[in-house]
Amino acid sequence: MRQKIVAGNWKMNTTLSEGIKLAQEVESLVSGVNNGAKVILCTPFVHLTEVKKVIKKALLGAQNCASEISGAYTGEVSAAMVKSTGAEYVIIGHSERRAYYHEDDALLYKKVQLALANGLTPIFCIGELLSEREANKHFDVVKSQLEKGLFSLSEGDFKKIVLAYEPVWAIGTGKTATSAQAQEIHKFIRDTVAAKYGKTVADDLSILYGGSCKASNAKELFANPDVDGGLIGGAALVAADFLGIVTGF
Ligand code: PEP
Repeated sequence: MRQKIVAGNWKMNTTLSEGIKLAQEVESLVSGVNNGAKVILCTPFVHLTEVKKVIKKALLGAQNCASEISGAYTGEVSAAMVKSTGAEYVIIGHSERRAYYHEDDALLYKKVQLALANGLTPIFCIGELLSEREANKHFDVVKSQLEKGLFSLSEGDFKKIVLAYEPVWAIGTGKTATSAQAQEIHKFIRDTVAAKYGKTVADDLSILYGGSCKASNAKELFANPDVDGGLIGGAALVAADFLGIVTGF
């Protein structure tokens, strides 16, 4: 059964006290929503333990994890550490990590494996650059990201993944993909997964849209048969705005 999800990616925003306050506000707003959607807050690492204490309906996620198990990797945070905070999800392969920290497909696959080995659900991000869309290469790009980042997983492990399609040109730009563009590529992604893992696995996979999704466009995006929710950046930082997206189903 496919799960509807709205996940907030706070990125490198909010001090600890601001983050706790935001989480409390979100929790009090979403606790009354009963539309079957899961709400996930992906906070900075240092917020995880404290945010966990103030949420109940909302679930907890991190924005990254290390590609190694443990040891001499100064500044890194392992999947086991993330899990120990009570987090259940971890974003892997966000375009900002791919672009600014040069995370490639092989490294991301290692992170996915470690997340799964530690009982975390990866929210795995894929999506093309503007130049790639303009060159009509977006289908090839997302197919390659899927194949290299995920398709070596067993069927059993792949079934634990949540996907987020995030066109890079739409992230933080205010330029949202049209509803038709989102549906077209989400269907392509689902068909690509079906060709690899079969129709049942593909039908059960949650594919989130991310990229300037807000309360004013969430309803139209989420109404598409292959869009199962959103990964939300900017609009996740204001509780009322985020609520407007959570109620967009
Ligand atoms: C994101 O960074 O995952 C994202 C979708 O950001 P925004 O909603 O701000 O475009």
